[in-house]
Order: sequence, then C-alpha cells, then structure tokens
Amino acid sequence: MKKIAVFTSGGDSPGMNACIRAVVRTGIFRGLEVYGIQRGYEGMIEGDIKRMHSHSVSNIIQRGGTILKSARSMEFKTPEGRKKAYENLTALGIEGLVAIGGDGTFTGAKVFFEEFGIPTVGCPGTIDNDIYGTDFTIGFDTAVNTALEAIDKIRDTAAAHDRIFFVEVMGRDAGFIAVECGIGGGAEFVMVPETKTDLNSVVKSLKNLRKSKSSSIIVVAEGDDLGNADQIMTMVKEKIKDPSKEFKVTTLGHIQRGGNPTARDRVLGSRCGMGAIDGLLAGKTNCMSGVVNNELVYTPFSDCIGRTKPLNPDHLALIDILSI
Ligand code: ATP
Repeated sequence: MKKIAVFTSGGDSPGMNACIRAVVRTGIFRGLEVYGIQRGYEGMIEGDIKRMHSHSVSNIIQRGGTILKSARSMEFKTPEGRKKAYENLTALGIEGLVAIGGDGTFTGAKVFFEEFGIPTVGCPGTIDNDIYGTDFTIGFDTAVNTALEAIDKIRDTAAAHDRIFFVEVMGRDAGFIAVECGIGGGAEFVMVPETKTDLNSVVKSLKNLRKSKSSSIIVVAEGDDLGNADQIMTMVKEKIKDPSKEFKVTTLGHIQRGGNPTARDRVLGSRCGMGAIDGLLAGKTNCMSGVVNNELVYTPFSDCIGRTKPLNPDHLALIDILSI
C-alpha cells in the first residue's frame, strides 16, 4: 500500500482534527502518500481530493470542527454514486481509506468495501458515544464538558428563582451525554431514549423533592420516548398543577458539537488515527480502530453498526440515589 485517503463524514465532533492529524502524520511517517477528501462521501463522488503533507495538519490539534469538512451524502447511498466515488479514487491510485465518523459513515464504508474492495479502517468520530467497539467516541468528552458548563450556569439561575429547569442535550438514539451530564451536573432526573420514562413517577418525585429542594434540573436527551424537553415540560406542568411553580426549558443544541477538544478527545483521536494507519498496513479492513480498557482494538464494522452499546445501569442508579 502506497497511497491512502482520509475523510470525515456525518455529524462533526471535536477531536476529528486531532484524528486527521494523526492519520496524516502516521501515514507519512510510515512512508505513505496521504490524501484528504473534502466533505466526506460528497467529495469522494465529486473528486474533491487533495494531497496532504505534514504541514497541512499544523496548528489544528486544538481546533473543533474538521478541516476536511463534513457532509451527509444521499448520492453515496446509490450504486451510481458509489461507482463515481470508486472511479475517482482509482484514478488517483488510492489503495486504502480512513473513514472518521459515526455509524452511518461506517455503514457506507462497509457497503463500499463489499462492492469495490478498497481496504478501509474507521475511527469513531461522533459526540454521541453510541458506537460499539470503543469505550468512548472522539468528541464525547468535549460535548459532555460543554453541556456541563451550561448546566452549572443554569443551576445558578434555577436556584436564585426556585425554578424547575428542563435542559435538553443531544442524543437522538443514545443517552450517554445526558447520563454523564446528569451525574456531573447533579441533576434530579435524567430522561434517555434507552429507558421508558414514567411521567407519573417523575411528577410524584418532583412534588416530593420540592419539599426539600427549591430548584431542580432535569436533563432530557433529545430522543426521549416522551418527546423533547419542551413537550415533556408541558406535560409535567399540566400534571403538577401549581401556578406558583416556574418551569423553564433550555435546549443546548449545536454548542455541544463545537469548541476546542478536551485533552481526552485529542489523545483518543490521535490514538485511533494512528491505529487506523497501522491497521491498514497490517492488512486490516472493514473495521474500526477504537480504544477499549485503554487498549487499541479493531472491531468489525458489522459489530460497530449492528451491536448496541448499552448505558451502564449503575450510572442510572447513581443519579437516583444522589438526587435525594
Ligand atoms: P453522526 O451519528 O455523528 O451524525 P454518522 O456517521 O452516523 O454520524 P450519518 O449522516 O448517519 O452520520 O452518515 C454519514 C453518511 O454515511 C451519510 O450521509 C451517507 O452518505 C453515508 N451512509 C449512511 N448510510 C449508508 C448506506 N446504507 N449506504 C451508503 N452510504 C451510507
């Protein structure tokens, strides 16, 4: 293998740049020519692919976002789109790929490998932490810390006015961000997609809590089965039926994706990036380079996509116990 290309795809996450840097520099260190594909599968289809050098990734390890930009590509989901992508890669003599993204990105990479056979290793770049085969995903730690900083600020104003705050964090299908913020931010409740939310018991507990506490923080993952934070707040308010209680909603939204990556995300991105190159050179393909129990491991894309990473039930119990 002499030429490889790297791209970022799906939702961006802080630490993707550290990962790109590690891919480029490890590749060059190991004697490869490295190319960068702009805007994920979109750029692969359009042939937006450029040679990268060591200096191409200078001064980016501390930056959020991705210098290669990211995109969602409908065309790559079609056989015609993937054929165009393959032709662009072969025209440049690219013999290996590093795909940095989430489960959608790995699904695309798996389909592409099965059709055209270009060896591909993935790196888990998503804030959601919902990928099997790695303890943490690149960007999760930064997103949690960003959300936590916001929750700390909300707590000040919640306490000052004796308010009940519903704080919505990202997590359409997974509650990892909500659980971590809930523990770190001292939330009274955390609502996540993985568990059924029992509205009546939340209302009952809130009424009891109000006797001992003047304010409450409820962290809601955007994909909770009862709806978003706004909808849940309306339901709770109707059931509590106390005009003296004030309810507020804050949706944190895209600030959770931005910002300088934490040390953990920079280190994780760097380790997974180096692991991707070394995996490709060792003949690995159709798999992800991740970190489990502090060891670099390779997990087949089929498991990363097909297996669910469960929430730790001890963490959910911790929230209940510590909120009394
Ligand atoms: P995140 O979860 O952080 O948003 P992701 O990688 O899961 O990241 P997606 O938007 O789900 O983000 O997927 C990224 C891209 O992967 C899609 O825009 C599409 O181009 C490609 N992709 C996803 N599923 C398939 C598929 N079944 N076949 C081909 N390509 C796919």
